[in-house]
Parts: sequence; C-alpha cells; structure tokens
Amino acid sequence: MSQEFFPLSPSLWAATAAPAPVTTPLQSDVKADVVVIGAGYCGLSTALHLAERGVRVVVLEARDIGFGGSGRNGGQVIPGLKYDPSELLAMFGREKGQRLVDFAASTVDSVFNLIDKHGMAIPHVRRGWIQGSHSSAALKQAERRVRDWGAQGVATKLLDRAETARLLGTDKYLGGWIDPRGGGVQPLSYARGLAHAAMAAGVVIHTDSPATQLLQDKGRWQVTTAGGARVSAERVVLCTNGYTGGLWPQLSKSIINANSFQIATEPLPEVVRRSILPEGHVSSDARNLLLYYRIDHSGRLLMGGRGTFNEPDPALPGDWSHLENVIGKLFPQAAGIPIAHRWCGHVAITRDYLPHLHEPAPGLLIDIGCQGRGIGLQTRMGQALAEYITTGDEQALPVALSPIKPFPLYGLRRLYISAVIGWYRMTDGGV
Ligand SMILES: Cc1cc2nc3c(=O)[nH]c(=O)nc-3n(C[C@H](O)[C@H](O)[C@H](O)COP(=O)(O)OP(=O)(O)OC[C@H]3O[C@@H](n4cnc5c(N)ncnc54)[C@H](O)[C@@H]3O)c2cc1C
Repeated sequence: MSQEFFPLSPSLWAATAAPAPVTTPLQSDVKADVVVIGAGYCGLSTALHLAERGVRVVVLEARDIGFGGSGRNGGQVIPGLKYDPSELLAMFGREKGQRLVDFAASTVDSVFNLIDKHGMAIPHVRRGWIQGSHSSAALKQAERRVRDWGAQGVATKLLDRAETARLLGTDKYLGGWIDPRGGGVQPLSYARGLAHAAMAAGVVIHTDSPATQLLQDKGRWQVTTAGGARVSAERVVLCTNGYTGGLWPQLSKSIINANSFQIATEPLPEVVRRSILPEGHVSSDARNLLLYYRIDHSGRLLMGGRGTFNEPDPALPGDWSHLENVIGKLFPQAAGIPIAHRWCGHVAITRDYLPHLHEPAPGLLIDIGCQGRGIGLQTRMGQALAEYITTGDEQALPVALSPIKPFPLYGLRRLYISAVIGWYRMTDGGV
C-alpha cells in the first residue's frame, strides 16, 4: 500500500480493545494451500472457515489485524444489504433473488454465532437496530421494509413518532422501524477475536507484511511481500476492500471510497445515558448521508457520518465539528460533553451498491465492496468463500463472479462525489 491512511490509534476501539494475538512479519518464504490478503472480517472469516475445513492458510496483513474498516466501524451489526427483499427479488428473479435475501438475512447470525462458538470475550449486545425516518418519504420506505422483512418471517415493527422518540432519545424523527436481529459489538475486539479463533484453528497470520506482487507460476501463486519474503500457494483470496491499493490492475478503480467519520464522547452522566437509546438498540437513520449512533459498553455516545474526501488531520478536531453539531441538535442533553475520540475510515462503494466477487485468473478470488454494512456481510462472505474454494460450488456464493469493471471517468471521482454529496445534503434536509 503506497497511500498514507488515517491511523487506527485515535479510535475509541483501539483504546479499549481486547489484546491482539501475537503475530510477526513474514520473514522467510513459506508454502500454503491458500494465501489470504487482508486481515479484516472477510480475510479472517475466510481463513477461519478454510482452516476448519482442513486447508492450510497464511494471512498477510499490511499493517495490523483490523487496521481497515474492521477496526474502525460503528460496531452496528445490521442485517441485509442496501436493497430490500422485494427489490432483490425484482432484480434477480425468484430463485437467485431469494438466495440473496436468505444470505442477507443470515449475516447477523453469523457474527453472533461465531462470538458464542469461539467464546470471544468481547462487549456485544443484541437488542435490535432502529432506523429513524427523517422525512415522509423515509416513513413510506420504513413501512415497505417492515412489510418486506415481515413477509420473510422477521418480527420487524413500525414505530410511531412518540415510540421512536422514546427509544432513540430524540424527537427529531417522524417515526421509524425496528429490526430485532441487529446488535452491537466492539468491532476491533471482534476482529481480534476472529484472529484468535483462526490461529487456534491453524491459520498463520503475518502482520506488517504488505503484499506487493501477485504472480502465477507453474500453476501456483507467488505472493511477494514488501520485506521480500514470499508465500507460494495454490490459491489467493484478496480481501482488501476499502484499503485496496494497486496489487491487481483496475481493482481499486472498481470502487469509490467514502470516508466515514466518527466521534465518541467521554462516558455520559448516568441520567443522560438513560435518556439515549435506553433499551440498548443501535441506530442509523434513513438519510442518504446517514447518521449512525449508539452507546458503547462504557456509556459513551458515538456519532458517525459523512467526512471529507481527503484523510483528515488527527490533530485538527475541527474536521469532525459537523458531528459535534449533530450531537447538539439530535441529543441536546449530551451537548457539551467532551469528545474523547475522533477517527475515520474508508467505506468501499460499488457501482450497483452490491458486493462484488471476481475471479480474474484461475485460483485468484477477490471480494470487494461492502457499502458500509460489512460486519455481518463480510463475516458471512468469508464463510461463503471458504465453501466455494473447498467445494467449487458457485451456488455457495451470494452473487455471481463477475469481471472487474472500473468506474467510468474514475479520475473525476472527486467532482462526482462532491456533486452527489451536495445533492444529498439538499434532499436530506437539516437535522
Ligand atoms: C467509519 C466506518 C464505519 C462503519 N460502520 C459500520 C457499521 O456500523 N456496521 C457495519 O456493518 N459496517 C460498518 N462499516 C463497514 C465495515 O467496517 C466494513 O465493511 C468491513 O470492516 C470490511 O471488512 P473487510 O475485511 O472486507 O475489509 P477491511 O476491514 O477494510 O480489511 C482490509 C485489510 O486489507 C489490508 N490490506 C490492504 N492492502 C493490503 C496488501 N497489499 N497486503 C496486505 N494487506 C492489505 C488492510 O490493511 C486492511 O486491514 C463501517 C466502515 C467504516 C470505515
């Protein structure tokens, strides 16, 4: 990776995470059945599920376990994809569409099942996810979502204005809906928990080991790292998502990276704490430039939302001031409580807002694009990739393998993003 990314260390998660397993850089050439590149949820879950199927796996991570989105996100485990079940059925037809709906429905369980199965001692709750509706169009969307998931057997519930205000702790929404499947985790602890589980299953993880070259030679892949040592393997799985560099041609141009910013307050006074999300839900709203918030295990209020195109300066708190203003407006009871952590990370957006899977050469599998809902999705995706690799059954994959397609006029993305953000700001309205 040549770019300089915003560090992980200023985040709330880095300050409070369970310890990472001990790992070292790759120092000499090794052989494996599969080499996984990227130690986020996707890479770690793929590695864990492959190892459980008897495959010898080496994971190469450029920085630390969870350095990418997996160590920086909002920790909201939300089911589903960008599209609702009825939209997926209309887009993909009854059989394929239903498979994708079932996959989307299984993403949250895959996280909480792994936490239980491997006895991960990490803060987590499962009291449901609330999506607040900021406009009458969003209210209609909430009604459709409740209907859609209800038809799939999920006990969703539409909320009126008063109930939404009570459960969120703000009267700024016209209503909303609850998906009972959702929950919250300490995201970096979860990534580290996956790494511990994978290593216990036999996976070898090398951190500070950026892959710099992928070459196929006599039916095997040779992956060279920045230090010069190589992994030779039958297969490569590339799971670099929003932190993708130039390792494979055109791949980084097939996504647009949105920078999502977050802040966390100092622990709230008990009386304030009890007034915000009092029943332990996590929440994000229905705006295009969505706001997401929750209370963490130590009683801090977290607020996340859009950020600048460039990486902000950790020493300049003003870059996050828009989120402090949002706290003041949505939760005036928490206004002025000092902000203890400010950080950000990349969310990989694809052209069709769906996850993409590619196999551009035999034995090279690529997963990319999570649209900001990756805790469940990427955990479950790793399980699907492991099944595909060991069985060859494409039905195990939620979406078909497709060619890598760069965004048209990728060089102009900054202009494009500014125009889209401007439009969304106008249509979303103020807080
Ligand atoms: C601020 C923010 C808030 C979010 N909030 C939520 C949320 O509340 N709920 C939710 O479900 N999702 C959320 N997401 C999305 C979620 O975090 C991601 O979808 C998910 O973590 C992606 O996991 P991954 O394993 O695919 O990629 P990542 O976790 O990004 O991992 C990719 C890894 O690849 C490594 N890498 C890159 N290049 C190389 C190389 N050449 N060699 C070796 N390693 C390399 C990187 O260092 C990185 O560790 C959020 C994302 C962000 C950024």
